Amino acid sequence: MHKRLVIAGGGPAGMMAGLLFARAGVETLVIEKHGDFLRDFRGDTVHPSTIALFDELGLANALLAREHDKVTDISARVDGRYYRVADLTHLPVRHRYMVMMPQWHFLDFVRDAAAAYPCFSLRMDAEVAGLTEQAGRVSGVRLAGGEEIGADLVIAADGRGSVLRDAAGLEKQDLGAPIDVFWFRVPKQRSPRNETAGQFSPGTVIAMIDRGDYWQCAFVFAKGGADKIRAEGIDAFRRRVASAVPEIAGDLGAITSWDDVKLLAVSLDRLTRWHRPGLLAIGDAAHAMSPVGGVGINLAIQDAVAAANILALPLSQDEPVDQLLNDVQKRRLFPVRVIQGMQRAVHASVLGPALGATAKMKAPFALRMLDRFPILQRIPARVVGLGVRREHIRSPMKKSAIPME
Ligand SMILES: Cc1cc2nc3c(=O)[nH]c(=O)nc-3n(C[C@H](O)[C@H](O)[C@H](O)COP(=O)(O)OP(=O)(O)OC[C@H]3O[C@@H](n4cnc5c(N)ncnc54)[C@H](O)[C@@H]3O)c2cc1C
Repeated sequence: MHKRLVIAGGGPAGMMAGLLFARAGVETLVIEKHGDFLRDFRGDTVHPSTIALFDELGLANALLAREHDKVTDISARVDGRYYRVADLTHLPVRHRYMVMMPQWHFLDFVRDAAAAYPCFSLRMDAEVAGLTEQAGRVSGVRLAGGEEIGADLVIAADGRGSVLRDAAGLEKQDLGAPIDVFWFRVPKQRSPRNETAGQFSPGTVIAMIDRGDYWQCAFVFAKGGADKIRAEGIDAFRRRVASAVPEIAGDLGAITSWDDVKLLAVSLDRLTRWHRPGLLAIGDAAHAMSPVGGVGINLAIQDAVAAANILALPLSQDEPVDQLLNDVQKRRLFPVRVIQGMQRAVHASVLGPALGATAKMKAPFALRMLDRFPILQRIPARVVGLGVRREHIRSPMKKSAIPME
């Protein structure tokens, strides 16, 4: 089998790229190793910039018709006092809020949108294990069962554990992530407004994402500390959470064992080169993101848009694209550098001191300023909601496609 474009990985980067390249008339196959998109505790954020992209595609109303919650502002609570950090209601877009939607619903939506284009195909339950090469150029992928699929271009969108970036010999620069995260859920009553907030108390940081009838909680701790916390027992863990967020103490019985608490190891890295002839890496495969700011999905989607903007037309016209791959890296490296730089700064200046604190904490200066001068809250809102160097859809749409709305 030979395809013009093979995309390894059906996450946000791979599915969005699949949609846009197929829309442009490029015969595209997305290969996803899981049998469905149903995986818990992936980021469930759909950013205002992503909604704006779907607006440009004429699909925003269909996306927002699916069940979701809206976040218009983000707060941090330090030692019991709330500080408002980001106000999304002034963003220069039509939908001035972050949508919280289970990622599998979002990816189902993108798959349905892509399925409207005859050039799109998706193979689930198929694992890419390596690359095939001809005369030093990547010529396709090899699946775990040994099957080979040829391609004019392979996009590696297989996430931060990418096998393809290793198979391609692309070099990774590890930027160091000093944290890991335990994810768990705690039931709650629906409240009139979304109460998403970071909770900081001496030695404990918990990001609490308001998902309507439950809290999605990210318990942040120093990297490598999971075994020690587990060894202290689930009761001790519940007590630690309860003392940091007393309001949810009565609901922590929902965490019955460590089976209810998922470890997610955090990495922060980026490739020095995102491509070689016949292959391009995008999303976490090119730059693994920390959960800080909840912006990794935005970057992954923006990478996909940039890749399609630069490559879809020539690919659809059967023109060689190897010489254009570096343009994608050049376009996207700047936002990745900026956001990873900010994430490192938050690791070092906010999370590190909070996790190391043993006595009453003072809110960081920046937090106090943001709370005092609300106009400043538009800056983090812009970084989180729209990102840096925002992309717009410039890839073409081939006429034969059937639009969803
Ligand atoms: C703890 C944690 C919490 C986070 N929370 C948020 C958040 O709230 N908001 C946010 O924006 N970002 C968040 N992030 C970052 C975000 O998850 C990533 O940046 C984003 O998912 C990257 O998208 P992607 O498509 O590049 O990769 P992924 O989402 O990792 O998708 C890769 C896909 O490839 C598939 N795959 C992998 N290997 C193969 C293979 N060999 N063959 C075929 N398929 C394969 C995988 O099954 C997966 O579906 C978080 C990260 C962490 C670690």
